[in-house]
Amino acid sequence: MTVKDKILKALILGAPASGKGTISSRIVKKYNIEHVSSGDKLRDHIEKQTDLGKEVKSYLNEGKLVPDDVMIKFMIAELRKVENKPWLLDGFPRTVAQANALWKVQPVDVVLNLVVPFEVIIDRVKSRWVHLPSGRVYNIGFNTPKIEGKDDVTGENLMQRPDDKPEAVQKRLEIYEKVTRPVINFYKEKGILKEFEGRTSDEIWPKVTAYLDPIFQKI
Ligand code: AMP
Repeated sequence: MTVKDKILKALILGAPASGKGTISSRIVKKYNIEHVSSGDKLRDHIEKQTDLGKEVKSYLNEGKLVPDDVMIKFMIAELRKVENKPWLLDGFPRTVAQANALWKVQPVDVVLNLVVPFEVIIDRVKSRWVHLPSGRVYNIGFNTPKIEGKDDVTGENLMQRPDDKPEAVQKRLEIYEKVTRPVINFYKEKGILKEFEGRTSDEIWPKVTAYLDPIFQKI
């Protein structure tokens, strides 16, 4: 296989509400790759009230992690559907057990880690609204929808995620520190982690493209 035939497998990490969703959308659009977001996929199952949706609903509402065995089985199956395409994985893995399982079936090529101060994150979730079917995210006062409470593209209702409630956010940040921090170290040890610091997505985005442009040109 030549470098040109390589199908790039990228992964994005970052605390809840670190702008992962925004940066991911921009990456998949600019480089024309698949976006595989575990959170979006789970929310979709909940919305459609599938068996998986019913099983995971309470975890998401309380800001807790879905058990590893459920997540690993689900995401490995999802990734199989896009194995012949370049993709950006978002939200998975969140534990070292998940990272190990993923590494066995599909080692990733690059890992981007967004580093955003915690006080910025707390402020951001308070004003965050999402369009569930598409995963589009709005921030009041920063990236405000054109019509209050409505998605710019479809005009459908926006909602505040149950896990954006202050208690759930606190819980998610605690879990992030305890359980997901070791995932960052997992990729650091593999030598494929690249960190991007900033307070806003607009500050982080140019750093991301400066890093990814040469990688995608090489492919
Ligand atoms: P996110 O949209 O990535 O913040 O994910 C929202 C919620 O989905 C999380 O708070 C978890 O409840 C669940 N979730 C998403 N991805 C995972 C994962 N890799 N492992 C466990 N739970 C997950």
